[in-house]
Amino acid sequence: MKCLLLKRIFLVLLLFQLLSCKSSQEKQEAILSKIPDPKTLNETFVSDPDQILNPSTVYSLNQTLKELDISGKAHIDVVIVKSIGDEVPKDIAYKLFNTWKIGRADTNNGLLIFLVLDQRRIEFETGVGLEPVLTDMICADIQRKYMIPYLKQGNYDQAIVSAISPIIEVLNTESYNFNVEPENLGNINVALSEPHESEHKTSNSFFNSIENIADKWLNNSNFVLVSIIIFSSLTFFSTIITVVKKVFFQRKKKSRLVSKFLIILFQLTIILLISSIITAVFHINFKKCVYVIIGLYLFRGFLLHIRLLIILILAKRKDRDKRYNYLLKYKETFKYSENLYPISFIHLLYKKLCKDIKHSRYDPYVCENCKSLMKLNKNKNLSKGQSLEEKINSVEYDSWECISCKTIKLVKYTNIYSKAKECEKCHYRTNVLKKTYITQKATTSSSGSGYELYECKFCHEKEEIEFVIPKESTRSSRSSYSIGSSRSSGSSSRSSSGGYSSSSGGRSGGGGAGSSW
Ligand SMILES: [Zn+2]
Ligand SMILES: [Zn+2]
Repeated sequence: MKCLLLKRIFLVLLLFQLLSCKSSQEKQEAILSKIPDPKTLNETFVSDPDQILNPSTVYSLNQTLKELDISGKAHIDVVIVKSIGDEVPKDIAYKLFNTWKIGRADTNNGLLIFLVLDQRRIEFETGVGLEPVLTDMICADIQRKYMIPYLKQGNYDQAIVSAISPIIEVLNTESYNFNVEPENLGNINVALSEPHESEHKTSNSFFNSIENIADKWLNNSNFVLVSIIIFSSLTFFSTIITVVKKVFFQRKKKSRLVSKFLIILFQLTIILLISSIITAVFHINFKKCVYVIIGLYLFRGFLLHIRLLIILILAKRKDRDKRYNYLLKYKETFKYSENLYPISFIHLLYKKLCKDIKHSRYDPYVCENCKSLMKLNKNKNLSKGQSLEEKINSVEYDSWECISCKTIKLVKYTNIYSKAKECEKCHYRTNVLKKTYITQKATTSSSGSGYELYECKFCHEKEEIEFVIPKESTRSSRSSYSIGSSRSSGSSSRSSSGGYSSSSGGRSGGGGAGSSW
């Protein structure tokens, strides 16, 4: 069972991996193409494709930034997006800056303020001409003091608006006082927006969020890890349910309804628990996370129904005696699925399975000679070897007798759970494991060997079956999945790439600063 589950988890992961096999170049281009250049949006300065900001904020930002642009001091573009998948924000900011050629060609006075919500990252990408005035250190300090406090509250409008004033101040005075705290630094000359309104806007419809999350999962490297967590948790709690059900409900014989209700309650708790863990670790929206897990759970249930139906249909094509063992083999699977999905049609399928098992074994056979019905004979008239087989529970026999012509038909059912093997000499399934010998222990450099001693309980024939013990694995440190790309713990992470040559159109040499919130 465990092996099967692992195999399934592996297959699902493989599928996910295949889906995400887009080359990184294509992915980056896809992301870049989704962010419109503000210049193409009716001469504005704000690019907000996900409509995160309040329209009034965008309006006032545009007014301020336009004035600034006309003054020739700087051309500031603001870009805010929900997600760029697992791309590095700094890379994207750099690409956007140089593709859009922000700023004037002669003075290189461009600045890109880039916010990525799911990665909780701000990047300032400064043009070559602005770098001496708006140094990386100043950028980082502005982010830390004026933006991060608001970003932490989810107030993106306010975060951007409050960053603009100190930037303008620096550009006007060409100086920056690191010791000044936000409260003391002049008036914010951009009208503030109502934070509540923007919240309303971001709460999308159900389908929208499903679409978003699917988009994000396929673009995000974290999804492998998240999938592992979800699937292992599903497996884990389904096992627990089976145990809990066995211990509590079958002994006390509580009503089925109560036990079903308790199981659903338990599942919901687990789902919420997993979601909160994932939310905390991966900064994914809690509600979306719950939707995804429930979606996966329902999808798995749907697949289970189909699988169980196929099993029942395939069984119908088998001979009666083989059908019995075939169905019996899946009884556990059905039962396990029924526990996992209390509200489903699985219990009906399980009932059908039990019925089929019974019918395949106990429906009266038709006599081959006289075509009349046969009847199950209590006195089986078994040989000594057959009786021994029944005794050690490796084979069961049903003896059918024709009512009219007294023909006997013996039907044999091998016990699929019995470890006994067929004896090569007497051909009864009475060969049982007596002892296991290890002749050579496995080490880290060589594999070991041993043999199992079987003895037939009927004819006492002995048989040795050799086996190989695999090499002991050296405990290698498993490579862990890399989580995210740039989640620096400090307030600022600076990147500076040296030489560049200024050319026409605004260029960034990679200057600027980034912070996480
Ligand atoms: Zn007959
Ligand atoms: Zn034997």
